[in-house]
Amino acid sequence: MNPTVLHQAAEPEHIAISKSKGIKIDWKDGHHSDYLLGYLRDECPCASCTGAHGTEPQKTNYAAEDAAPKDLFPMFKPALKMLSVEEVGSYAIKISWSDGHNTGIYSFDHFRKICPCEQCKAAHGG
Ligand SMILES: [Zn+2]
Ligand SMILES: [Zn+2]
Repeated sequence: MNPTVLHQAAEPEHIAISKSKGIKIDWKDGHHSDYLLGYLRDECPCASCTGAHGTEPQKTNYAAEDAAPKDLFPMFKPALKMLSVEEVGSYAIKISWSDGHNTGIYSFDHFRKICPCEQCKAAHGG
């Protein structure tokens, strides 16, 4: 276990946004995170996606679409995109998705928590 990895303050140094690809964040502590669109959509922290109000979580599975060959899934609608990305104060980003979802407010703490790199996955135990 390496508890320092989990308790660093999440402060971005630089954020690179591509509405058709995803978001990359360089953190002030030198860490680098690279989030694919589908993964970010799946990790939406809003109440309806997480079931925070006791409702059934509305989990999406866009990450599987990121990974799957598109010709296996001919019924798929147009590729997922971000329509707009707004800063919320200095602590979060609000993303509007092309599937109509726009209630997710991604705090930088959340971004850091869901960092998909090997180091962070290992720190989270899988
Ligand atoms: Zn959501
Ligand atoms: Zn990481």
